[in-house]
Amino acid sequence: MSLETGYYNFYFDICAVAFNIVFLLLISGKKIVIGRRYKYFYYLVLVMLLASLGELCTSLIRDGLWQVSNGAKVAINVLSSFFHNSIGFLLYMYVLHIFGIFRHLTMRIRIMISIPEAVLTIFLVVPTLRKMIFYYDSSGHYCVGRWQNALYWGIILIYGCGAILAVVIYRKHILKNDFISIFIISNAMIGSIMVDKIVNDIHLNISIFLQSVCLMIAYIRLENDSEVIDSETGLLSRVALWNDFSVLNKTNYSAYLILIDINNYDYYSRIVGAKRINDVLKNMASWLIMFADNKVNVYHPEHEKFVLLLYDYSKEDALRLAENIRLRFEKKWDLKDNGVVFQTTVAVTGVPNQISSEGQLYSFVEGSVEKIKSKAKVNFVDEVETDARKLDVEMAITRALENKSLQVYYQPIYDVKSQKIKACEALVRMTDEEIGEIPPEEFIRIAEETGQIGYIGNFVLENVCKFLQKNNPKQYGLEYVEVNMSTIECMNPDILRNIDKIIEKYDVDKNQIDLEITETAVVHNDSVMANVMNALQNSGISFALDDFGTGNANYSYLVNYNFDIIKIDKTFLWAADDNAGNKAVLNSMIQLIQGLNRKAVVEGVETEEQKEYLISKGVDFLQGYHFSKPIPENEFMEYLREFNSTNFESGHGKQVTEEREIDYK
Ligand code: C2E
Ligand code: CA
Ligand code: CA
Repeated sequence: MSLETGYYNFYFDICAVAFNIVFLLLISGKKIVIGRRYKYFYYLVLVMLLASLGELCTSLIRDGLWQVSNGAKVAINVLSSFFHNSIGFLLYMYVLHIFGIFRHLTMRIRIMISIPEAVLTIFLVVPTLRKMIFYYDSSGHYCVGRWQNALYWGIILIYGCGAILAVVIYRKHILKNDFISIFIISNAMIGSIMVDKIVNDIHLNISIFLQSVCLMIAYIRLENDSEVIDSETGLLSRVALWNDFSVLNKTNYSAYLILIDINNYDYYSRIVGAKRINDVLKNMASWLIMFADNKVNVYHPEHEKFVLLLYDYSKEDALRLAENIRLRFEKKWDLKDNGVVFQTTVAVTGVPNQISSEGQLYSFVEGSVEKIKSKAKVNFVDEVETDARKLDVEMAITRALENKSLQVYYQPIYDVKSQKIKACEALVRMTDEEIGEIPPEEFIRIAEETGQIGYIGNFVLENVCKFLQKNNPKQYGLEYVEVNMSTIECMNPDILRNIDKIIEKYDVDKNQIDLEITETAVVHNDSVMANVMNALQNSGISFALDDFGTGNANYSYLVNYNFDIIKIDKTFLWAADDNAGNKAVLNSMIQLIQGLNRKAVVEGVETEEQKEYLISKGVDFLQGYHFSKPIPENEFMEYLREFNSTNFESGHGKQVTEEREIDYK
């Protein structure tokens, strides 16, 4: 039996069936059913599969390759037509959900939208009406009814054009990627049906296959689950939360948010290990997912946080649901052989009354919990501050990077043995035309959050290399420059390539650069850090440990990491002025460094007494305002030349003011 000659061409239908089965398996495995929008997508593929199966069966029957009773013929045809014609309807619903339009529609409009689909169903179910679409004549041959085309075209026109219209009207309400994808897909879906009708060849029907391909493209573009589905828990991701919020926000729809924050997550994670804590998160997720339905989306935006977005809820209902959740989180979660109880804060807030911007959503998810005191009840967060300053600083960083207006200052480091300035620390400075000077401690932290830190790091290093190349400070006795590396940079495996590229570009000796890593970074990221550091050290770069004493660490890591220099944090020096106990702490830190055969640096040296004291304790290097504040390149070169050429017996060169506030000029 040939599947081709003289008969209907089945190849496209067989392909469509196979294609849709695979597609369905693919998306059902990925829990794509969470949330309404995904649900409609899922139905769409399911109906597509049923339609392609239906078409295959009816064609087999029509061509006499499959013998069935007359009743069965009609039933199969009715189902096939129904599924085929429902694709347009489902596509339209999917589009309405993507745009968040559906929930704004009144019941009357919802009913009106469903009328064409209902009319079609009535036509198919009522035998006399059905004859207008198709019938079997007395000899059992399939015949096309007078209304078939009219009905098909009607449905296509109404839903297809409805979808395109919605896309055009609501284009400002959706993300650009969604907009382009939906526009292309709705057109392609309609186009493929048109192709069928225009070709109008009873032996060939390719529309279902083409539509399946279109949907696959939609899947890849719109429902890219790696972005919207959180891989740890299968819940919706942080990206999905922000997307859904932005749709919500643009449509001025009101909703409630429940935030669940596990306060001691980090602590447990360190004790029981990431793998086991992940199992607990999965338990929590599978409990929370029970609430996911047409009106509730469940997100996992961060390790220790879950968020529920409630549509069409009253404030009372939202608080009630939050209270149920809080009560469950008061009880224990299974952790393999035993259970743990987490300290959890549950907060509720409203959109748009309390939260109406992405900045506020950010503050609510990231920061609100610190301000909430009570764990014994659900907290309603009435005022969510936008972290306006944070957004301002973020913009200022963007401007500074664009205008290349960041500056690098240098602070001398005094070598006790030779009584010369042997090193300096590069410190970045930012002055914004709108906000003025922004301290590095503030903008570095924000840049780490926004991902801009990489650019800042490269900028500083590049400047240091230019400085070394241009001034050749080695001729005046300066051996190396300390460059600060942020925690985020330390965890980026590409850092080696980056640094190499910059150093090579300016043809600088690697031993002229020493990277400072803060203790907290080392303590919290052992294996990642160790790999990055090893790679850098193998390439000839040396390291200093910064802010020693602030990381609350046990010091065993000092043995494993190869730091040439250890910088004691300035607070220990300043505290030593206050009492004998603190002095003992400082002394033992110095001794520990000496015992490990590393060089000790103390920062924050502001007075002659501090200097003398540290020298008496055998500290190798001193840094602080007593020598100089961080100063611009030219000033620093002048300072260096003068200091290192003066007569050492009298002490040192230029003395700088002893106030504590930082002068950026
Ligand atoms: P840090 O690495 O501990 O840098 C030393 C800070 O102590 C500098 O503050 C310096 O000006 C200040 N300092 C030094 N001696 C004294 C003193 O005698 N008295 C007082 N009161 N302060 C002194 P600065 O420049 O404001 O930098 C603050 C922090 O910002 C730095 O702390 C560092 O963590 C970060 N930072 C600065 N530049 C960079 C950079 O280029 N990259 C990265 N990742 N971080 C940077
Ligand atoms: Ca430093
Ligand atoms: Ca420091």
